[in-house]
Amino acid sequence: MQLKNFMEDLVWQRLDEVLAGHRNVCKCEKCRYDVVALALNFLPPRYVVTSQGETFTRVKSLEQQFNVDILTAISHAVQIVSSRPHHEPK
Ligand SMILES: [Zn+2]
Repeated sequence: MQLKNFMEDLVWQRLDEVLAGHRNVCKCEKCRYDVVALALNFLPPRYVVTSQGETFTRVKSLEQQFNVDILTAISHAVQIVSSRPHHEPK
């Protein structure tokens, strides 16, 4: 058995979709991690106990419940990270 914050998985799942709408934003690994970390700080953690077979339905219901919040948090995080990137422009 394991504890897992499923909000983290949901943010990673939606990251590319949100980044695709921001053409001038750096999409390197560092910036992607920065965006996910920030977005997760805006969202409530949702811990579940993972065991095989049981997780899928729980994630699905969480995804529907927080769909809009997740997209909003990622968009907000993208704007913050792109306004002050942690590295020099390429
Ligand atoms: Zn970058």
